[in-house]
Amino acid sequence: MIGKKDYGLYFVETVSKKQRVSTVKAAPFDPAEVTARFSASGRAAGFRVEHYGEINGFPLIALTKRATGLRPRIYLSAGMHGDEPAPPLTLLALLEAGFFDDRATWFICPVLNPTGLVRGTRENANGLDLNRDFLDVRAKETRAHIGWLQRQPPFHLTLCIHEDWESTGYYLYELNPYQRPSLADHILAAVHEYCPIDEAPVIDGRTTAAPGIIRPIDDPLLRETWPEAIYLRAHHTTISYTLESPSAFPLEKRITAHRAAITSATMRLIHDLSKKSAYLPPSQP
Ligand SMILES: [Zn+2]
Repeated sequence: MIGKKDYGLYFVETVSKKQRVSTVKAAPFDPAEVTARFSASGRAAGFRVEHYGEINGFPLIALTKRATGLRPRIYLSAGMHGDEPAPPLTLLALLEAGFFDDRATWFICPVLNPTGLVRGTRENANGLDLNRDFLDVRAKETRAHIGWLQRQPPFHLTLCIHEDWESTGYYLYELNPYQRPSLADHILAAVHEYCPIDEAPVIDGRTTAAPGIIRPIDDPLLRETWPEAIYLRAHHTTISYTLESPSAFPLEKRITAHRAAITSATMRLIHDLSKKSAYLPPSQP
């Protein structure tokens, strides 16, 4: 058991995500302040900052920056679960470090669930898990998010950034229906420099394809509830990763691990697509 002090400033207790009731377990996180920093730093870095909706007085924002020429279109999302602060803080650190340059066209939804983040709960203030809401949409946040996604061009890569309260190390889900070159090994090799990989044969109830890698064994579109990644795979992207850092590790370590994963995935994709024969923009599904 990891002691309280190891959670840094952000955590006071842990509970299982399988609990049915929303339980406060991460605090304090000020989504209004983090959103304002994304807006200011984004504008300073040449991003367009869109308010695509609002929830309980919190703006829902998206940042886009289009590079000229043939560049991959990369989408990143964070803050879907309010008890997972590392993903939005990772994107903010990358933004403020100037990572999102003209090597790609960037699409970023950094704080998807502000009412969950302000309460420190996985679900939003109405008790809805937004990452199970993409087939039969119930939440206002999801409706606004999908509306924004439908106005964007197709993506070459999507990264949904999360944390897991039960894992013993970093892992990822890969959705690669068109058999594009996998980025999974590159991502995990980069992460492994900073954080252990979860080597359990079964993670989150799913048998792994390789250590730290989960691939669907049946058609994910047949699932009864859709997370964001399955919606993206169905309508918006050719390859998708959900990146999961272990919540039991200190916050700084999780942020470093996510930074390594995102850097590795995006740079590898840009490298692969720069070989002209491999550069086939995705068709609109
Ligand atoms: Zn999550």
